[in-house]
Amino acid sequence: MAELSPVLKQATPVLAARGEGVYLYDEQDRRYLDFTAGIGVTSTGHCHPRVVEAAQRQVGTLIHGQYTTVMHRPLLRLTERLGEVLPAGLDRLFYVNSGSEAVEAAVRLARQATGRQNIVAFQGGFHGRTMGAGALTSSGVKVRAGIGPMMPGVVFTPFPEAYRHRCSEADAVRFALAEFDQLLVTVSSPRDTAAIIIEPVLGEGGYIPAPPEFLAGLRERADRHGILLIVDEVQTGVGRTGRFWGHDHAGIRPDILITAKGLASGFPLSAIAAPEALMGQAWPGSQGGTYGGNAVSAAAALATLDVVRDEGLVDNAAEQGARLQEGLRKVAAEHPVIGDVRGLGLMVGNEFSTPEGVPDTETATRVHQAAARRGLLLLTCGPHGNVVRMIPPLIVTAEQVDDAVGLWAEAVRDAVNG
Ligand code: PMP
Repeated sequence: MAELSPVLKQATPVLAARGEGVYLYDEQDRRYLDFTAGIGVTSTGHCHPRVVEAAQRQVGTLIHGQYTTVMHRPLLRLTERLGEVLPAGLDRLFYVNSGSEAVEAAVRLARQATGRQNIVAFQGGFHGRTMGAGALTSSGVKVRAGIGPMMPGVVFTPFPEAYRHRCSEADAVRFALAEFDQLLVTVSSPRDTAAIIIEPVLGEGGYIPAPPEFLAGLRERADRHGILLIVDEVQTGVGRTGRFWGHDHAGIRPDILITAKGLASGFPLSAIAAPEALMGQAWPGSQGGTYGGNAVSAAAALATLDVVRDEGLVDNAAEQGARLQEGLRKVAAEHPVIGDVRGLGLMVGNEFSTPEGVPDTETATRVHQAAARRGLLLLTCGPHGNVVRMIPPLIVTAEQVDDAVGLWAEAVRDAVNG
């Protein structure tokens, strides 16, 4: 009889028994430095005492109240608190549970508000795996293969990828903006185009930050054509990139912002934020779901935002991210198989490729596994799975960053020397 398993494929053999701060422990109490953070979710570290306390208190008070039926205080408080950190004017929020659901909520809103159908997404972008969010995803064919047809009305255009095209960032931006302009005259007229959706840092697609000039160029075009700009901050939000929002690096204004992952330290919660004039155009009942805005998740999110503020985690992400990149560049300098080290804040990727730029997925996979054996948990990403990424909790210290770089150097040596 086949062995029962809840996963199709597990990337590491680790069975986590408990988590504390930046560390995970298995059932034999072996300690792992967790630079995956549940894919960028446990922003305040595993089981931060203030998050645990807030959630435990809420569990004993009210676990669930479906907020479009009966409102509850934790969600009102969270909404008020998010108002302090959201871009000015994005004053209406709507809550669901996951990144994918929030992406779909943003698409529904954009289509309803504009009366247009098409959404422009970027090649290499990731927005989720549900049939709508998956239609916007092109970070790798595995999300779509054998599943289509996906939701219609999605058109793709290139993201500026200087490393892949071996060109300067300025050239990559010029090319991608020219392609975008061409798209509007060849494929999707502005009259049919509801929105552009973009990640401030291409996440699953390979940890490639969007150049600020690119985001500014899109903003300008969106304004010119009455197209909405949806910024997917599911992975980049709540301090991850060293600014509170990833788009803050470019100083642009989103029309719709999507937040999830780091928002509630591991409790399922996501939201979209939009101006009142926009959100007011959604038909009541056209959005939402049974569990969205759960009271325990909301309480955990409130505690998370307090910890992020009180412990200075946004600045810490900037500082430790810079330290991490500096350490990783030194390792890359000794190993030509690492073609590029890049990222923003505590979203850092190491791309394995030949000097000609051919993806080296095999070495990336070996390094990823060698790191896990040495006690450093990492993730891979990119269309070829040849980018090994690091996305630790935002509480990571300089000492832990140095430990990780040391383990990384050993893992690369293990893998390269066979
Ligand atoms: N958008 C982005 C930018 C993401 O990184 C992810 C998840 N990796 C999603 C959307 C989908 O989120 P979820 O897995 O919670 O549906």
